[in-house]
Amino acid sequence: MYSRTQNENGSYDTRCLYCFMTIASAVETEKELDQMEARHICPERALAELLELGKAIESRSHRASLS
Ligand SMILES: [Zn+2]
Repeated sequence: MYSRTQNENGSYDTRCLYCFMTIASAVETEKELDQMEARHICPERALAELLELGKAIESRSHRASLS
């Protein structure tokens, strides 16, 4: 998830909504924004996904112990 804003001169900024880091600023085209966003390896997002995975495994083992 990214938040894109357009500057007065028509260029774009993009910010990651997971870690609130500005990934790119004064980018000229939306295509370039896509590339910059794709290149961002987000530590917060990785952590969130890891937690989700942990939860999923936990609920699965709970279910297994019930049966
Ligand atoms: Zn991020």
